Amino acid sequence: MKDDTRAVTAGRDPHNNHGIVNPPVYHASTVLFPTLEALQEGHARNPRQVVYGRNGTPTTHSLQDAYAALEGADMAVATGSGKAAIVTALLSCLESGDHLLVADSAYLPTRTFADGILRSFGIETSYYDPAAGEDLAARMRPNTRAVYTESPGSLTFEVQDLPTISAIAHENGAVVINDNTWSGGYFLKPFDLGVDIVVQAGTKYIVGHSDAMCGLVAARGAWCERVWHTFLALGNCIGPDDAYLAQRGIRTIAVRLRRHHETGLRLAAWLCRHPDVVRVLHPGLDSDPGHALWKRDFTGASGLFGVLLAPTSRQALAAMVDGLTLFGMGWSWGGYESLLVPVDPSSSRTAVPWTEAGQLLRIHAGLEDADDLIADLDAAFERRKQAS
Ligand SMILES: *Cc1c(COP(=O)(O)O)cnc(C)c1O
Repeated sequence: MKDDTRAVTAGRDPHNNHGIVNPPVYHASTVLFPTLEALQEGHARNPRQVVYGRNGTPTTHSLQDAYAALEGADMAVATGSGKAAIVTALLSCLESGDHLLVADSAYLPTRTFADGILRSFGIETSYYDPAAGEDLAARMRPNTRAVYTESPGSLTFEVQDLPTISAIAHENGAVVINDNTWSGGYFLKPFDLGVDIVVQAGTKYIVGHSDAMCGLVAARGAWCERVWHTFLALGNCIGPDDAYLAQRGIRTIAVRLRRHHETGLRLAAWLCRHPDVVRVLHPGLDSDPGHALWKRDFTGASGLFGVLLAPTSRQALAAMVDGLTLFGMGWSWGGYESLLVPVDPSSSRTAVPWTEAGQLLRIHAGLEDADDLIADLDAAFERRKQAS
């Protein structure tokens, strides 16, 4: 079965639900058992059993099954946010005394968790160049238990060599985790490249409409058990309405992402030609340093990319962004709407300092017409010029 078909069919069972196309939204804490025997047998042995609301309901199962199918995983669990999914994945494989390697380009709250809570529990984290290949072997220590990847990084868009990183990690007895939020689980299949545990902020492309929080952890083989037990131990479950919205988002993810891909590349190409632009950080462009790896491992690009402007005064930047009509300014991404935020990676880098002069913007190309978006950007550059 191809991906687009899987996205539509996985985790649905209309004929056991009165023929209704979408799964019901089960609001539940208590689950009743008819007999003493059923009560005593009612342990949360696997993610499919319905024993207590926190462990999952048929609504959660529908989302988990659809997501597992999309990633090509054996199982998945859904959490209340992407951050909670990252925490679940990390705690599934780390113990006190372990060492963790994290890509320097990783999502900032991932770093915060590693440098704060993990550190206080005796787990040491060091950061590696996201461009690392064979040279990552030199960073492995005898107690390195996990290598964390995010490709491309959601601020600076470096594409990572996942097969090489996975091979080195495995040779050294470490597990590989990948944050696959950028690709939506549609354009990149990390398990096929050697990754062991995949996480995603379902909040972004899976939900797709900026109206719910969701995290997902997918695993294969031996890791399923560890992920499931860690999920149970942490107690971070998703609410039923958000689980419903997330599984519904998966049904349309293929068409939405293809459009994000198209519009993102159109905007990126237009920006490349603009005289005030130093560089566009988009792996789908021939000129991007990550282009060859992206072409090898990805089947498309999402709508999120960066653009580095020539140095811009605060006043000119404000004139530029305050007058935008279609692009909104705000965190998160992956919804139908376009976003643009000024960002500064320099404060969140330790392995490879960000030294580019100029103003970096992060753009999310939404589902609006690309010509209208370009007109909004064009006017913003004009305001920048007037204010300079
Ligand atoms: C947003 C994001 C997360 C966290 O997801 P939340 O649902 O906001 O907690 C994790 N990783 C990446 C790459 C993200 O962009």
